[in-house]
Amino acid sequence: IERTFIAVKPDGTQRFLIGEIIKRFETKGYKLVAIKAIVPSRTLAEKHYEDLKGRPFFNGLVKYMTSGAAPVIAMVWEGKDVIRQGRRLIGATNPLEAQPGTIRGDFCISVGRNIIHGSDSFESAEKEIGLWFGKSEVI
Ligand code: ATP
Ligand code: MG
Repeated sequence: IERTFIAVKPDGTQRFLIGEIIKRFETKGYKLVAIKAIVPSRTLAEKHYEDLKGRPFFNGLVKYMTSGAAPVIAMVWEGKDVIRQGRRLIGATNPLEAQPGTIRGDFCISVGRNIIHGSDSFESAEKEIGLWFGKSEVI
């Protein structure tokens, strides 16, 4: 059974969108197998986004994830095709390109504050679940 890593980013937490986001994954038919509130360390955030190292927005992105103004809600979701379908539920990276009906399309307007993360491949899902969760924390 396929699993993906989904995170409500600090702006999503701050804007009280945790329930809305969980509801969309639940009602689609996916199963929540791990969840925790966490303010990631700089090391964790940099490893999570290591593929984007060197991009002009990298430092701002890490700062945004680690600020502590509100926690990240880290989750693992399970079900058929959940990696790809999760990305479809989330919508395009730039919320102005995201379709209405998607999470980013419905709730935000700024690429730097796009409220949610979802793994983009089987490999990144494996990597991210291992980074954010210990084995005993995942059902
Ligand atoms: P995520 O990995 O968070 O699910 P994504 O896979 O849709 O998003 P990536 O290309 O992996 O997009 O970028 C990671 C994150 O970096 C984006 O979600 C966004 O918060 C931030 N980001 C991407 N491009 C920009 C940009 N041009 N300016 C500011 N922030 C950006
Ligand atoms: Mg990504």
